[in-house]
Amino acid sequence: MAIDIKNIADLLKKQVADAQLSNQIVDVGEVVFSGDGIIKVKGLTNVKYYEVLSIQNGASAIALNLEENEVGAVVLDDDGSICQGMTVKTTGRLMSVPVGDALLGRIVDPLGNPLDGKGNINTNKYREIEVPSASIMDRSPVSQPLQTGLISIDSMIPIGRGQRELIIGDRQTGKTAIAIDTIINQKDKNVICVYVAIGQKSSTVNDVAHKLEAYGALDYSIIVSATAKDSAPLQYIAPYSGCSMAEEFMYNGKDVLIVYDDLSKHAVAYRTLSLLLKRPAGREAYPGDIFYLHSRLLERSVKLCDALGGGSITALPIVETQAGDISAYIPTNVISITDGQIYLETELFNAGTRPAVNVGLSVSRVGGSAQIKAMRSVAGTLRLDLAQYRELAVFTQFGSDLDNVTKAVLTHGEKLTELLKQPQYRPIPVAKQVVMLYVISLPALVAISKKHITKYFEEFLKYVEETNPAVYADIDNTKLLSEENKKWLGEAAESFTKSFLEKI
Ligand code: ATP
Ligand code: MG
Repeated sequence: MAIDIKNIADLLKKQVADAQLSNQIVDVGEVVFSGDGIIKVKGLTNVKYYEVLSIQNGASAIALNLEENEVGAVVLDDDGSICQGMTVKTTGRLMSVPVGDALLGRIVDPLGNPLDGKGNINTNKYREIEVPSASIMDRSPVSQPLQTGLISIDSMIPIGRGQRELIIGDRQTGKTAIAIDTIINQKDKNVICVYVAIGQKSSTVNDVAHKLEAYGALDYSIIVSATAKDSAPLQYIAPYSGCSMAEEFMYNGKDVLIVYDDLSKHAVAYRTLSLLLKRPAGREAYPGDIFYLHSRLLERSVKLCDALGGGSITALPIVETQAGDISAYIPTNVISITDGQIYLETELFNAGTRPAVNVGLSVSRVGGSAQIKAMRSVAGTLRLDLAQYRELAVFTQFGSDLDNVTKAVLTHGEKLTELLKQPQYRPIPVAKQVVMLYVISLPALVAISKKHITKYFEEFLKYVEETNPAVYADIDNTKLLSEENKKWLGEAAESFTKSFLEKI
């Protein structure tokens, strides 16, 4: 057979032209130290900050310390088999997690692996866990409310979509309870919820999952869990992973609520990492970039402008204080990053005021503009009334002779306090909250004593629902409490009070 040189040359030329050469340079290094979830690697000269490294045993690590002779990295899925001399390769990628609808209703670890035994997560969409937040021009002001269903919060510390509201308080003061109630209240409201558990007991996370499932809230929620038994690196990346999962929905025009429970433990995990990496320690032994750790996370919660779909991420970070000290390092940091805080107090909690919100120390810096008009009109003086009541209550503790005005302020304050108490897992729709707050100040209510307030409103709300449900529908549709409805409520309260007093 004759060999056609021209043909061969053409074939070769074509192959050369079609050849796809990847220009990725893979660096290969060697583990020189491994322990406590940290490895030191020699020989990686072209590694990038935050790049994912692939270790010989299949584990992956993130390069955090780039030093002259070696690289310090944190191992994410350490199974204890890493040893000196193993090869480590750079991958050219940053850490990413699976995102998308497939995650809804699932419990995953910070790497996106399922923890709930419901099979694989079928998605081919991934997002990097550390991305810059939306730019200034991409944002729009907070203008829509995000109802928590808790009357004390929706009336006085309103939260808007895209806001970051800190929940702060000592241990066992109902911090998680507020976050869970808010998630439950998003049912049928077209809000996706992400609950990130950091450094908690596995049993607590299990409880949360069961409660969400029982109240039908798991379908629109994702739980990202790095429990106390997980390594510090996993706990460290958990909130960023959760945030990326939330961002996927936000950039598709959806509203998302994300809860970080809690950032104190997150800071501790990061401190552990930093000390193991031998970074210099600062105040309370936290590293110097501890502020940036939380600010870059919380800055990713935004309300996007309409051109980008108008989605939002509302963040409820939780911080635990020691003996009510909100001036400690982490609490002050996070207070200054967020748009307000809900401060919970042990004394109030123990005295039976639950949710134990200290109204005086709690604020919402942007949510007011997102509150519906009807709520603003009935809750306008609530904060002041309560402050006045508390002040007088302190002064009159020992006195016996009180004038009528003082007595009226005191009894009204007591009733308001009673009204703001709310059991767990029982969110109240905003229309009902408006009716409650309007009716409590009516003259007809003077005859009702403090101990009957809860029962009174339970029955009154039902009475309105049965006789004139249009009141609720009106508030929901127009966002206003019309004069007509006010008049009707006034008359209804009068006649209802009469029959109520006869019954008890
Ligand atoms: P931790 O510091 O352990 O995380 P926490 O501050 O998150 O605690 P929760 O776990 O939410 O507090 O609540 C502590 C206890 O108080 C729980 O047993 C919970 O059921 C109860 N609790 C919380 N809120 C209420 C409420 N509004 N009414 C009645 N009980 C409540
Ligand atoms: Mg908790």
